[in-house]
Amino acid sequence: MTQPIVSIVIPIYNEEENIPELYRRLQTAIEQLDGEAELIFIDDGSRDNSLNLMRKIYERDYRFNYISLARNFGHQIAVTAGLNFVRGKVVVVMDADLQDPPELILPMIAKWRQGYQVVYAQRLSRKKESFFKRFTAYTFYRILRRLADVNIPPDTGDFCLMDREVVDILNAMPERNRYIRGLRAWVGFRQTAIPFEREPRFSGKVKYSFAKSWALAINGIISFSRVPLKLATYLGMLSAGVALFMIFLVLYWRLFNLASPLIGYTLITIALFFLGSVQLFCIGILGEYIGRIYEEVKGRPIYTVKEMRKSNNRTKVNL
Ligand code: UDP
Ligand code: MG
Repeated sequence: MTQPIVSIVIPIYNEEENIPELYRRLQTAIEQLDGEAELIFIDDGSRDNSLNLMRKIYERDYRFNYISLARNFGHQIAVTAGLNFVRGKVVVVMDADLQDPPELILPMIAKWRQGYQVVYAQRLSRKKESFFKRFTAYTFYRILRRLADVNIPPDTGDFCLMDREVVDILNAMPERNRYIRGLRAWVGFRQTAIPFEREPRFSGKVKYSFAKSWALAINGIISFSRVPLKLATYLGMLSAGVALFMIFLVLYWRLFNLASPLIGYTLITIALFFLGSVQLFCIGILGEYIGRIYEEVKGRPIYTVKEMRKSNNRTKVNL
């Protein structure tokens, strides 16, 4: 079999309502390509009919492949599994809910032909997403940009095109905590953005719970910044400064026999709780980093696969 030119990687978690429309729009997009294309859907432990739909598509489309992970591993891991699996010269990663329009694949490929190794889609707006989501996303990307060692472009998700060279480097990275949009920026090469309007979800509920989004955000910061570790030092200096100031203040009050309401239990109690919380907060930050070291050191596989169909094996399977 010839090497497919474009591989399209799509993580799927309970997206049965979106798969038929997604597949339809992908087909239209693929037909406009002049090279070959392959589709790779990664079922991230869906509990609905998604996997069955994939099996059905596989039966009638030779360009279609799928992997089914043995449980829900999370979006970033599902994408990682897809990247490990694909063979294309060019790889496109996108969401299943049609928030990432398949029609953008063509202009992305045009950029790639101009010599860019990474073409990422940058959201101009998030239509109809809740105010809370827009506000937290906006703030998070700006904080991340200030803290991170690499320049991670704001308002970009995982929707992107990557050259084989970049995908090979991502696949060779041993880390288990995978914040793909960060790793992609870290790799370097020539990168460019394509702006787009982010449509609302085609159907179904958002699969990223608040807890998952929070975990992803923390992961992004911890994986790409050591600034939080320095926070302990700064907070330590700050409380030392406050303590020194208080020593002089109390000395002054005593020397001049001034009565102050600040001397006594109130002050002690406040100071006690303040220091206690600063210390616990810093231990918590240390914990985040140590937890990640622990995850990496254990060296478990990143995911487990329960079912996989590659279309180039299919002739054998059907014989
Ligand atoms: N997804 C996944 N595993 C998860 C959660 C989400 O594979 O545990 C997939 C989901 O099916 C979708 C993509 O990741 O294709 C993005 O999820 P969603 O649209 O819910 O989040 P958004 O990025 O829009 O906030
Ligand atoms: Mg979505």
